Amino acid sequence: MRIQHLTSDLFISGSNAITENGEIVNIDGFGNRVNSIAFGPRKVIIIAGCNKIVPDVEAAIERIKDVAAPMNAKRLNLPLPCARTGYCHDCKSEQRICRIVSILERKPNATDISVFIINESLGL
Ligand code: SF4
Repeated sequence: MRIQHLTSDLFISGSNAITENGEIVNIDGFGNRVNSIAFGPRKVIIIAGCNKIVPDVEAAIERIKDVAAPMNAKRLNLPLPCARTGYCHDCKSEQRICRIVSILERKPNATDISVFIINESLGL
């Protein structure tokens, strides 16, 4: 079960942020998503709304910490400071959801990735 999607033929994912330069930036709590995007599945498809496009990597991290993660924390009803205030406190919580940062600068050598940007606001 734990490695199932690492060995799948197809892995479909969203993304937290995509820069104007093409870097794909994600932050995970467990790392299952970022690992599967980087290596394992035969084919990876990333689908993201145009609201995920940011100028650069710095803005991507900012978007994730001050928009996506707080909204996710709130949605999951987690007792995290960002869920209350709507911005990152760089918390030391056991339930912290920001633990692994992945920046794909280019397509990983062994993974076939297609990225689809949808011209509407989708997801966190
Ligand atoms: S580091 Fe902690 S406070 Fe900051 S966004 Fe992540 S979970 Fe929230």
